[in-house]
Amino acid sequence: MRRFFLLLLVYGCSLFAADVDFDYVFIGSSPISVLEGLYRSYTGSKVLIVEASPTLGGAWKSITICGVAHVDMGCHQIGSDPKLKKFLETYVGCSLVQMNNPYGQTNALQSADSGLYFSGGCYELNCRLLELIDKSPAQLLLNCKLEKMHINFDDSVAVIKIQDSYYTTSKIVMTPNSYIEIENCPKAPKPSYSKYYHLYLLIEDSSPPRFTYFHGFCKGMSRAINLTPFSLEMPEEGQQLIAIQTYDEQSLSYATFYFDELKKRQFISQNARLITSDQYIYEQPHFHLSSIQSTCPQAHSFFEILRTDAIWNISQHTDKWEKAFTPCMTH
Ligand SMILES: Cc1cc2nc3c(=O)[nH]c(=O)nc-3n(C[C@H](O)[C@H](O)[C@H](O)COP(=O)(O)OP(=O)(O)OC[C@H]3O[C@@H](n4cnc5c(N)ncnc54)[C@H](O)[C@@H]3O)c2cc1C
Repeated sequence: MRRFFLLLLVYGCSLFAADVDFDYVFIGSSPISVLEGLYRSYTGSKVLIVEASPTLGGAWKSITICGVAHVDMGCHQIGSDPKLKKFLETYVGCSLVQMNNPYGQTNALQSADSGLYFSGGCYELNCRLLELIDKSPAQLLLNCKLEKMHINFDDSVAVIKIQDSYYTTSKIVMTPNSYIEIENCPKAPKPSYSKYYHLYLLIEDSSPPRFTYFHGFCKGMSRAINLTPFSLEMPEEGQQLIAIQTYDEQSLSYATFYFDELKKRQFISQNARLITSDQYIYEQPHFHLSSIQSTCPQAHSFFEILRTDAIWNISQHTDKWEKAFTPCMTH
């Protein structure tokens, strides 16, 4: 009789527990989203990561530009926090180098310490993250934009539609720069968007790269990075690829002006030649949980927001993540 009640208790609980397809659906695949998704899948949760773009990474994705594949989207810095370095090297499998000094030589033109960087740029980070996802129970869907979700308030589940199938989840994990519409909360506000402008210069310059990263020094320039030392698939010998982030769209037409400025300041050789230039505009939506709270309060508990505003936020999680991640050597 006691055994019967015990069985009833166990099966009864699992029958009545909300049985969802995924405990967490992560919207977007920027590095912190992916790492937190991996952590939750390692600790037993059913995790789905959904990314609208065909490639992983969010603002850290790589793109094909000026005819070169796997190029960093934009100019990035990751800082020099030892906790971040240890985690990315030991548990993610990245190889980090000093940004000022990627070739192990002091660079006279680069005075500020720009910290560490991935030896193979963003592409390296995303390749390692993809390998971890492949080996984990977490599921990833690329090239899949989740436009809408429906909340079934009676059953306390959120329902998402992917292609022709419906999936349930207890929680949607957003970042401040992802967005999804709540179908049955029509008053929830639409997102605002920010645009980030990038100009790429592919140049012929057979001298070694003279700079890696600097903040803008002329009209419309926010910052620049010479991606040549951090590109796994660089163009032909004697070519260099430089990304410039600009403050506005108009500055995207200044390719020749920026090329001449770089030459004037000896950031590139006097014999350098501009082969081609190309542009990339990155658009980010903004999601505000507080506006859901005010327009559709009953939906609030279905969302969780990750703090993804800077990649160095990784170090705030490493103590927790390291307990669940396996050092890469033993993967
Ligand atoms: C140009 C640029 C340069 C930056 N440089 C640095 C830097 O040097 N150092 C630093 O620490 N931080 C930098 N950042 C800040 C950067 O925003 C954060 O590091 C981090 O990438 C933010 O992650 P996120 O997920 O909030 O946004 P994002 O990185 O923009 O990623 C959001 C992702 O969600 C996806 N998405 C959104 N909605 C949906 C949906 N409905 N369905 C499916 N997918 C969806 C998008 O496609 C996108 O891939 C930079 C940001 C930009 C835009």
